[in-house]
Amino acid sequence: MMNLDKILYKDELTKEEIIFLLSLEDSADQQKLFNRADQIRTTYCGNEVHLRGIIEFSNNCEQNCLYCGLREDNLSLQRYRMMPEEIIEAAKVISNLGIFTIVLQSGEDFFYDTHEISYIIYQIKQHADVAITLCLGERGFDEYREWKIAGADRYLLKHETANPKSYQVYHKKQRLIERLNHLRYLKTLGYQIGSGNMIGLPMQTVDDIADDILLCKDLDLDMAAFGPFIPSPHTPYQNKNAGDVDLTLRTIAVARLVLKNVHIPATTALATLDEDGRAKGLNVGANVVMPDLTPNPYRQLYQIYPDRKCINDNPLHCKACLQLQIESLGRKIADGRGDSLKLNDEPSRSLSKIN
Ligand code: SAH
Ligand code: SF4
Repeated sequence: MMNLDKILYKDELTKEEIIFLLSLEDSADQQKLFNRADQIRTTYCGNEVHLRGIIEFSNNCEQNCLYCGLREDNLSLQRYRMMPEEIIEAAKVISNLGIFTIVLQSGEDFFYDTHEISYIIYQIKQHADVAITLCLGERGFDEYREWKIAGADRYLLKHETANPKSYQVYHKKQRLIERLNHLRYLKTLGYQIGSGNMIGLPMQTVDDIADDILLCKDLDLDMAAFGPFIPSPHTPYQNKNAGDVDLTLRTIAVARLVLKNVHIPATTALATLDEDGRAKGLNVGANVVMPDLTPNPYRQLYQIYPDRKCINDNPLHCKACLQLQIESLGRKIADGRGDSLKLNDEPSRSLSKIN
């Protein structure tokens, strides 16, 4: 018989204990989990919420992930590419807002070659002291190296599922082991790395989610993202169910218990499924929000999934709105780059000390 109160205060959790926590049904028990996760978040991350401004600069993709609206076979999507100068300009708008991480995200689009991405990174860095996170899918190892030299700081590449069989179903052309090799290589290059899964993908079990969390620990991530799956039209999974919001919240909370000093976002997908999703995520262990600041007319064409929350045309309004939301939770927006919590790790910060 598992004892919830004891488990919540353990320093290391077994897979069985993780599954037990993910499966909690009683609302009082869930609240205990959420409170503990919030406490651990306060200890390791403080009250600051880090903003990461996303520029989705191309919705072209050579992959065919079964869940994603940008997949190559989705012929109904109008495709776009932003030119380098437009991307650099969009980054300036973000840093002028006082947001000091720029996420450059796209489908896997080799139209942008190694040097073009390097140029964009370099130019953005010339303008402001921002961190640059790349989220471009799997690219060449030599490219990762060149982009690091050009000034890239972080790389976000979700593993999506730790179940190798499901991974091959979702991705056909790709293998999980390959993706993990990319993440490990990025880490050796000195990137701060981010990964994570989607909650509610077809075939997924709670056992798989426990493996996802443990894999994030094994990868020694700097950032881990757990967002719900949202069915997207014109994809093979268009008629599947969306991920469960409460299970997503429990996953965030358990991930905070297990991973401790990593950045965890309250994702846009969570905010899309539940209008309080962002606040709920921030209350159960998350400490990061990633507003989409892609300029129009491109933003509404980046249809990974439909009806993305917070399509706010004006970046100033977006920042003001986030500030209001965050301050109403008794938190504040961080004023730095929000680098990895592992870079200034204090070994003395053990859980036993703070209890
Ligand atoms: N092409 C890059 C980056 C863009 S996709 C890559 O794949 O890494 C960014 C993320 O969107 C993916 O990692 C995936 O987790 C998420 N995503 C894709 N389709 C989704 C869907 N239908 N619902 C929720 N998230 C989705
Ligand atoms: Fe392309 Fe990324 Fe979507 Fe897969 S998840 S189809 S790689 S944009």
